[in-house]
Amino acid sequence: MAQLLSDAVTLTESQQLVQTSVRDVCSNFDHQYWRNQAEAGDYPREFVDTLVDHGWMGVLIPEAYGGAGMGTRETVVMMEEIAANGGGFSAAQAVHGGVYNSVPIVEYASEELKRDLLPRVADGEASIQAFGLTEPNAGSNSTAIETRAESDGDEYVINGQKIWTSRVDVSDYIVLVARTTPLEDVDKRTRGISMFLVDIDDAIEQGALEMEPIPKSASDFVHSFELWFDDLRVPAENLIGVEGEGFYQVLDGLNEERLVIAAECIGLGRLALERAVDYANEREVFDRPIGSNQAVQHPLAEAYARLQAAKQLTYNAADRAASDEDVDLGAYANAAKFLAADAAYEAADAAVQTHGGFGIATEYDVERYFREARLTRLVPITQQLALNYLGENVLGLPRSY
Ligand SMILES: Cc1cc2nc3c(=O)[nH]c(=O)nc-3n(C[C@H](O)[C@H](O)[C@H](O)COP(=O)(O)OP(=O)(O)OC[C@H]3O[C@@H](n4cnc5c(N)ncnc54)[C@H](O)[C@@H]3O)c2cc1C
Repeated sequence: MAQLLSDAVTLTESQQLVQTSVRDVCSNFDHQYWRNQAEAGDYPREFVDTLVDHGWMGVLIPEAYGGAGMGTRETVVMMEEIAANGGGFSAAQAVHGGVYNSVPIVEYASEELKRDLLPRVADGEASIQAFGLTEPNAGSNSTAIETRAESDGDEYVINGQKIWTSRVDVSDYIVLVARTTPLEDVDKRTRGISMFLVDIDDAIEQGALEMEPIPKSASDFVHSFELWFDDLRVPAENLIGVEGEGFYQVLDGLNEERLVIAAECIGLGRLALERAVDYANEREVFDRPIGSNQAVQHPLAEAYARLQAAKQLTYNAADRAASDEDVDLGAYANAAKFLAADAAYEAADAAVQTHGGFGIATEYDVERYFREARLTRLVPITQQLALNYLGENVLGLPRSY
């Protein structure tokens, strides 16, 4: 079935170019490739290297630092296509950090750090795939983080624990978020948090970083870790931005990144739906294709309608993000992520049901899409937290988080 939902929105010229170029890269990696990676739990190195070779890791890095200097409008297209063309949400997640973790460097790092790091990231010599915010006692409530970074001469000394930090095994650096002032000493819980660039090899050489992978049931080939930092020494120049302002730096750009996550969900939903439609047309039971039964057809049509709506909102918001319009982007981004994750989930669930018993056989892939679709309702924020934002900031209801 040819590229479902391709005509849902009108693309700009640069978006069209991104779409065809990314599809072209993805066409070299078939369903068997992704199935093999998932079954072995192996990071899709060849796929990522091909994207790197075509310059896609530098999509958000300004041209002055060797990148492509594109924005959210192009990145939503890129990530939707990566997910939709066989790899699913996990394929997008395999590169998401590498694309997005350069943004705080672009926005806040010193000129020296930018000049050193960004051209290397853009040409694939270095990767910043990992971002460490979540801790065992601070998930949705991220200002409750306890990892401490204390200034000591021209270094910071970091102690604490992170959980769910993804792609540490395929990254050169982690963007790490830590408290430089304890929670009890700040007037506002969002203050006293800072952002650091941690060189992973250096941390291991110091004997100051231990890591354990977290066994999990979705996103098989993208690994997440529990990390322990014990007196890790980081040069003061690796502080990203202003000490104590790190939480605001994390928030800045978060809505645009959330739109890209929404696009990844839509890509996964498209993929699941396309596979389901193909199967519904091919599989014959009672001497006719199962797709001729409305009980099979309607859930797929419903999934299409939901994906179409989520896509319109996501792309509309990406356009607004690129304009000078003064909009509450958070309202769009949270609504888009909420709708896109649910639409992906409904599409993947319908795809499993359409495949009957083969819905849970790995050879048809839809069971993998279903597990991934379930994950999209949890990360990077849960559906409830997206709704909390809308409840408070759009509907004017009391804050609950
Ligand atoms: C595969 C995977 C990869 C990840 N990668 C990274 C990463 O690279 N870096 C990183 O920093 N983090 C990462 N995370 C962490 C992720 O961002 C968190 O899991 C997520 O933010 C939820 O936090 P939590 O798991 O601690 O849930 P909790 O905060 O413990 O919440 C548990 C449940 O309670 C609900 N809840 C809590 N408070 C409220 C409230 N006020 N109102 C309504 N509901 C509420 C939540 O919605 C959720 O359903 C990853 C997680 C996973 C699963």
